[in-house]
Amino acid sequence: MQIGFIGLGNMGAPMAANLAAAGHDVHGFDLAAPCPDGVTPTTSGADAAKGADVGITMLPNGEILRAVAAEVIPALSPGAVLCDCSTVDVESARAVAAQAMAAGLEALDAPVSGGVGGAQAGSLTFMVGGSEAAFASVSPLFEIMGARAVHCGDAGAGQAAKICNNMILGVTMIATCEAFALADKLGLDRARLYDVVSTASGQSWSVTSYCPAPGVGPQSPADNEYRPGFAAELMLKDLTLAQAAAEMVDADTPTGRLASDLYRRFVEDEDGRGRDFSAMLPRLAGRGRDDA
Ligand code: NAD
Repeated sequence: MQIGFIGLGNMGAPMAANLAAAGHDVHGFDLAAPCPDGVTPTTSGADAAKGADVGITMLPNGEILRAVAAEVIPALSPGAVLCDCSTVDVESARAVAAQAMAAGLEALDAPVSGGVGGAQAGSLTFMVGGSEAAFASVSPLFEIMGARAVHCGDAGAGQAAKICNNMILGVTMIATCEAFALADKLGLDRARLYDVVSTASGQSWSVTSYCPAPGVGPQSPADNEYRPGFAAELMLKDLTLAQAAAEMVDADTPTGRLASDLYRRFVEDEDGRGRDFSAMLPRLAGRGRDDA
């Protein structure tokens, strides 16, 4: 396929490189980042998208996506698919899909989980919103860039799945960190708490796959001085998007809101920026009940 790939940052560059390495004709554009090996550089988003069967975007936020889509949509040929893999607000995803379909294109929102390591290894999970036909036509590309693609429903459903998942992740990570911090003060060894919780009803991915306590459970960013991994500011982004979506549809998400407020404080007022999101454990362990 001919592919226009716009946004060649930490995630986009290895994704585009994997498509090129698999034999696709990939034309790339980024405002700042260089084109990876195998990808043909172009001078604008429209130029990258011209004549492409699929336009893929991997951009920082919904505002930038809307601006890039306005430029790219007229450049794609009728019948082509615009596939956005960025994490953006549900409203922007739906607006861009509507604009693309009005221009005779197909559109998918296909945010990912798996991080930079997953993008490099081609093992991402894609959560996809859009038509069955568009999903089927882009599936061979998802298979190259990822290990799994789930068709979640119509336009916006991929973004909805992503923020619901990450709201659970943010909340369970905080709950896990709270429990380890409480255990410390009760004189309960962290390894013994792990032995219990990892097979008991408090079990979650945050405990068994990404344990926030150094030296306990499998290797995780906690064992690497909380270097990300998944940075606290990216968790804050996703929790903020979840709260924006909850506002939009009047959904009551009390612990999601608390998690968003806590990560905002951690990133904006404290030392959380640039640390893994599991560094919530040393933050909580160092505090007392009445600390603001
Ligand atoms: P990044 O900042 O490294 O890359 C974004 C790229 O977009 C940059 O290179 C930037 O120059 C480029 N860009 C911005 N405006 C542009 C424009 N108008 N035209 C062309 N290029 C433009 O970010 P990233 O880590 O690659 O993340 C990309 C998306 O993936 C984000 O939405 C993020 O939330 C999501 N995501 C990231 C991770 C992760 O671990 N990094 C994991 C899952 C999802």
